Amino acid sequence: MRCPKCNHKLVMGAKFCHQCGAELPPEIVEKTVNWYYDPVFVLLAIFLALAVFGLPLLWKSPRFEVWHKVVVSILTVIYTAVILWFTYYLIFVIFIPYYRELGTVLDSAT
Ligand SMILES: [Zn+2]
Repeated sequence: MRCPKCNHKLVMGAKFCHQCGAELPPEIVEKTVNWYYDPVFVLLAIFLALAVFGLPLLWKSPRFEVWHKVVVSILTVIYTAVILWFTYYLIFVIFIPYYRELGTVLDSAT
């Protein structure tokens, strides 16, 4: 994307041209932002795949207000904690005792 006034190459997410200082219209600012900073993509990446590892993407994105970043970060930490707790519960409370029990049953059968 280039400045409509001086044709200088624009810096990603910039609201002003770094060459001539012209204020850039919102539709141009929007187009200089990389697709992976799109709020929909950032939120899907965090809640479907990355959990806390998606937070750098969120904080680097110029498309979120600061308070949105704070709220989404808090939700992400809670979400990640729930996933970790659930994984722990599944392994140590359900699977391991189950297989231990199964092992003793099989041992006593032989
Ligand atoms: Zn310019």
